[in-house]
Amino acid sequence: MGTTSLMKKIKLKNIVISTVIYLIATVLLLVFLNVQILKTDTNRVLRTIDTTKTLLSEYPNSTLPSEFQYLPAGTRNTDTEKIDEGAEYSQTVSRQSIEITSPIRQDGVITGYLHATDSRTSPWFTNLMVGGFAILIYLACAFYVFVHAHRNYLFTQDIVAKIKNIERSPLTQSYLMSENDDKVTLALNSLGEYIQNQILSHSEKKENIYEFIELFPFPIFIYNAKGKIRKTNASFKNEFSDTHNLDIFSPYADFLTFLVDKMLNPTTQEKGFYFENINAYYQVRVSPLPDLDNRFLVTLLDVTAFKRTLHAHNELIANVSHELKTPLTSIKGFAELLKDPKLPENERQEFSHIISKESSRLIALVQDTLLLTKQNIHIDKKKTNLSAIIDEILNTTQPLLVEKKLTLNTEIADVHHVTNRQMVHSIFENLIENAIKYTEDYGKIFIGLRQKDKKVIFTVTDNGPGLTEIEKTRIFDRFYRVDESRSQVSGTGLGLSIVDKNVRELQGKIEVISVPGRGTTFTVTL
Ligand code: ADP
Repeated sequence: MGTTSLMKKIKLKNIVISTVIYLIATVLLLVFLNVQILKTDTNRVLRTIDTTKTLLSEYPNSTLPSEFQYLPAGTRNTDTEKIDEGAEYSQTVSRQSIEITSPIRQDGVITGYLHATDSRTSPWFTNLMVGGFAILIYLACAFYVFVHAHRNYLFTQDIVAKIKNIERSPLTQSYLMSENDDKVTLALNSLGEYIQNQILSHSEKKENIYEFIELFPFPIFIYNAKGKIRKTNASFKNEFSDTHNLDIFSPYADFLTFLVDKMLNPTTQEKGFYFENINAYYQVRVSPLPDLDNRFLVTLLDVTAFKRTLHAHNELIANVSHELKTPLTSIKGFAELLKDPKLPENERQEFSHIISKESSRLIALVQDTLLLTKQNIHIDKKKTNLSAIIDEILNTTQPLLVEKKLTLNTEIADVHHVTNRQMVHSIFENLIENAIKYTEDYGKIFIGLRQKDKKVIFTVTDNGPGLTEIEKTRIFDRFYRVDESRSQVSGTGLGLSIVDKNVRELQGKIEVISVPGRGTTFTVTL
């Protein structure tokens, strides 16, 4: 240990100041004592002078002791002058002796002076005692300060060395350095171990989990008990943003409340939320991570497609049930009427005709529903003669064309294409039948089929009622029928939905161009 550093510890300035104060106090004490001794000496001499004066006044002829000298009135020296000027007595003090001149008065008039000389009390012993004692106290204090500072200094050095050791290598060093394991050393040691464990366990766990969440293709983030987002995966950044703040969820108050609630009540919970701004449903799961500074892992599974499918299924069931109800009610009603044996023959025939027509509608509905809901997992494709398909359809629709006196023009190339025959048949048939159904008598229909590059283009044009913009956006919806046509022309409202489904499954596209009152063109590219 360097003396200089210890001196620094004690602080030289403080030592100097306290020593000076101590010295001044000691000197003041000594001066006070010496003044007191002089006072005592003076009082003693004055008392003997007084006694002598009394003696002289009673026995004027008595001999004075050797230390006394009688000075008659009128004697002139510095002492008598002082008294004449008004002093009570005059005093001269040397190291060893004290001399006092005091006037003798009779009826207020100075009749002579009495001069006494006496030896002084030696202050040597008193000064030695007091001074010696003061020095002893000073040395005792100095010793105490030094020892105390030294102990503090060693303690600090020890602690600093231990802390430096922790700094140097928290993972490999032992922190126990001193033989005498005081409380601080033990506490430091356990602190060191705690830090080491935390660093080891946390860094590994954290890194593992941080890497791990990157592997998932759905948004994941980790937030802490202060509401700060600590880590997000790439998918989260894509779908939301690269943020550190839960505030990004403020547009979704219920979701934010759910996260905040978990901070207060950290339990694992799963819940569904609708994110209005991005029109998506997420199944959210929060899992507290108690080993990771009480953070929370949040996974967001996009269940929008699932929800929509579910919704579509429910809607389909509701629609199909509704559509089935109308013909069934009608069949039931007319069947009841047929039970009457008195029913005239012409009505009986009419009612059976209605029952038969409604049954056909039911069959068509069931067939279309089956087609629409059929899941084509594997679409079987073969080289198919598409012009032959159109010929087939035209053969079956021929009677209706004739009945409605429609003019049919065709431009059908001999096209062979690798595709699914059944699905293409359904597409062509629905579009041709619609054109025939919705075009009024004496109308015109054009059917075209050609090959362009590696694609096939099929067109059906009619000069029927046409479609408005709104109708155009809705005709592919299930069960949608433009109102007027519903009353006049039979149909299920499922034909174009089936066309749309088949075209999509064959990776083709369908376009509609229509002018209300002038006609419609459907173009399918496969
Ligand atoms: P459906 O023909 O059974 O009613 P679709 O799904 O085939 O059902 O057609 C839906 C609706 O689209 C029809 O009800 C009809 O109003 C309209 N539509 C279809 N094709 C034409 C067309 N060529 N011209 C005018 N409207 C049409």
